[in-house]
Amino acid sequence: MSGDSGKGADEDIVIIGAGAAGIAAARRLQVIRPDLSILLLEAGDRLGGRAWTVGLAGASDMALDLGCGWLHGARTNAWTAIAEEVGLTVDRTPAPWNGGRRLQRDGADIHAAQEAIGGYFERLDSHEGDDTDLAAMLEPCNAWNGQIRAIGTYITGAELERSSVVDYNRYDPGPGPDWRVRQGYGTLISLYGRPVPARLGVEVRRIEHRHAGRIGIETSQGVLSARAVLVTVSTNMLAAEKIAFDPPLPDKTEAAARLPLGLADKLFLGLAHPQALPADTHMLGSISRGATGTYQLRPLGAAAVEAYFAGDLAHDLEREGRQAAFSFAADELSAEFGADIRRELSLAAISAWAAEPYIGGSYSYAQPGASDLRGVLAAPHDGRIFFAGEACSHSRYSTAHGAYETGVAAADQIAGSLSKNP
Ligand SMILES: Cc1cc2nc3c(=O)[nH]c(=O)nc-3n(C[C@H](O)[C@H](O)[C@H](O)COP(=O)(O)OP(=O)(O)OC[C@H]3O[C@@H](n4cnc5c(N)ncnc54)[C@H](O)[C@@H]3O)c2cc1C
Repeated sequence: MSGDSGKGADEDIVIIGAGAAGIAAARRLQVIRPDLSILLLEAGDRLGGRAWTVGLAGASDMALDLGCGWLHGARTNAWTAIAEEVGLTVDRTPAPWNGGRRLQRDGADIHAAQEAIGGYFERLDSHEGDDTDLAAMLEPCNAWNGQIRAIGTYITGAELERSSVVDYNRYDPGPGPDWRVRQGYGTLISLYGRPVPARLGVEVRRIEHRHAGRIGIETSQGVLSARAVLVTVSTNMLAAEKIAFDPPLPDKTEAAARLPLGLADKLFLGLAHPQALPADTHMLGSISRGATGTYQLRPLGAAAVEAYFAGDLAHDLEREGRQAAFSFAADELSAEFGADIRRELSLAAISAWAAEPYIGGSYSYAQPGASDLRGVLAAPHDGRIFFAGEACSHSRYSTAHGAYETGVAAADQIAGSLSKNP
């Protein structure tokens, strides 16, 4: 980290939030407007935001991503090229939903489930007319609705009743399969942020833009000013007005409230004997219940299991605590592999994204009728206050490369709006 810009409390541009969007914007501005001073302010104690890699005890070469893990649309995902540029390794093992290895289960059941799931997603794709919620596309009494519900929560982080069909149909991560960064997606994004002048542990509380000219920025560490501000905090932070705008920006607050964060949490279980489970194989906890985990057994060969919980189940497990999440996962793994598997398992790492004080969830979904509000959220205010972050992306919302693209777009807008000689 390069530390403070050394230019005192007056900057040309202040960027709030050192996640994928804020970092991408700062790096872009450094290239296209080297004449401008930039300062990145981050309330947390690290770069990356929802991109966060931790280690696996006893295996220094294993990276566990508590947030984003997959380079979706990998061939055209900006982070893929950056990973290679900064010397990290892109692993091209296929994802489970894209030809990767899955645990084999009873053939007849699997076939029936796949038909039901396929039918559901076809109904979604062909939906026309007014927006509705994802649950409206279920067939009443279909035996596989539980599994469809589970998959829906992994995608949006919310129960089907809450999220928009139109928004779901706009999602397009771009061409290419899904790859991973061996050293971690979080490692990649924080490494990319290192050349940016940044202050960690600085919470922005108020943005005063009442008068023309410089904008006042009140933080937990004092006041500074800037010619332009880029806000990249999550929709849950904006909706809760954790940053007060003076005068208020009700369009932004209301848009953010209708694009809330869904919840997905990860639990990594250490595995005493790696050979106890197959490598890089995917397993759904239950094929009938909606409240079930999805498990990546030994991701990239690690002596670990990555459990993924989403929607109401994730909220319940966060509230009940890490031991409850561990027991839930151990029960689902025991049901498949027998009770002895429990002795192999230990708790290695766990996320609690809803409880993260400066984030408050995992990725944004649109409530029915709210998909267009992504554009309202992304629009600059008064040519001085700019917005970026995954929720601002029309079709790559909920992803780290969507966040990157909104950061670059905002940087270009800022560069265009700030004259060379103020
Ligand atoms: C469990 C999980 C799995 C995921 N899986 C994938 C995946 O496989 N692939 C993928 O592409 N995406 C995935 N995502 C989504 C991806 O991580 C996010 O979309 C992306 O990282 C969001 O970046 P951002 O810059 O928009 O926001 P953030 O990362 O939230 O950055 C905003 C930053 O602002 C800071 N901040 C907030 N308030 C303040 C304040 N008042 N003052 C100063 N700073 C503040 C926050 O601390 C944060 O660091 C996943 C997310 C989760 C949680």
